[in-house]
Amino acid sequence: MLDSWRDVAGPCVLVPTMGALHEGHASLIRQGAALAHQNNISGGCLVSIFVNPTQFNDPADLARYPRTLEADSAICQAAGAAAIYAPHADDIYPPGLAIETPPLPAVATEPGLEDAHRPGHFAGVCQVVLRLFHLVNPHTAIFGEKDWQQLQVLTAMTAGLELPIQIVPGPTVREADGLAMSSRNRFLSPDDRRRGLSLSRALAAANRQAMPDEAEREMSRTLKEAGAEIDYAVVRPASSLRKSAWPPVASDTRWRALIAARIGSVRLIDNAPWHS
Ligand code: AMP
Repeated sequence: MLDSWRDVAGPCVLVPTMGALHEGHASLIRQGAALAHQNNISGGCLVSIFVNPTQFNDPADLARYPRTLEADSAICQAAGAAAIYAPHADDIYPPGLAIETPPLPAVATEPGLEDAHRPGHFAGVCQVVLRLFHLVNPHTAIFGEKDWQQLQVLTAMTAGLELPIQIVPGPTVREADGLAMSSRNRFLSPDDRRRGLSLSRALAAANRQAMPDEAEREMSRTLKEAGAEIDYAVVRPASSLRKSAWPPVASDTRWRALIAARIGSVRLIDNAPWHS
């Protein structure tokens, strides 16, 4: 791995992260390195690690966010990253320089989803990702399907601003028992860790229902039974995430089931295709 991201030669595939890397991030990095190789993207895969303060609406969540740069570096190296870009806050937000917050795409504020529970979160995400795009100028950026709404928001932002950057999704990596990997899973007590499995169980249960409202009821039932505190458990069109009538007008609509729920003090999110 290169000592400095500034030595990266030419365009790259960027994998933006907040560190505390796990196998989910490693799979995105391997995907990025393979994509760079196949497409002759000379800079290879660059991993950014930056805990972005502007996307946290809970100061306690920001304060306890794990910072594990040494272990992260080993994971990046093993997964085939060309280099790590771990900027200081002053590099991203230089004092005295107003950093643009791009207009939020509609999908960021669809009622009942992230914005209802984490107001301002996507404004911070769009701000930092656009800033990273300006600084790094990547050919392609990879984002995980684990954060499904974020993936739709950043795809829409990039298209809306006509940025010449390809946005590529990476599949969700799960523990053997189905829990989606997350940097926050380390905060789950053993009992909460078991209750956290209710998210993937609820997504599977949703897919056994024929109608979206039945699927939503089934997800809520499964989550409540496990003692999870639900922010949302919904079925929406996969790209717009707009609450819409059933049956859908366009027969080719793809659907997604999405959950956010609190288990103890930890907020978990997960999603899966619904009947698509
Ligand atoms: P984070 O560091 O949590 O902001 O995540 C950085 C990137 O990794 C985002 O694009 C996430 O969607 C992605 N990611 C997080 N967890 C997973 C996972 N379990 N599987 C695949 N990608 C993930």
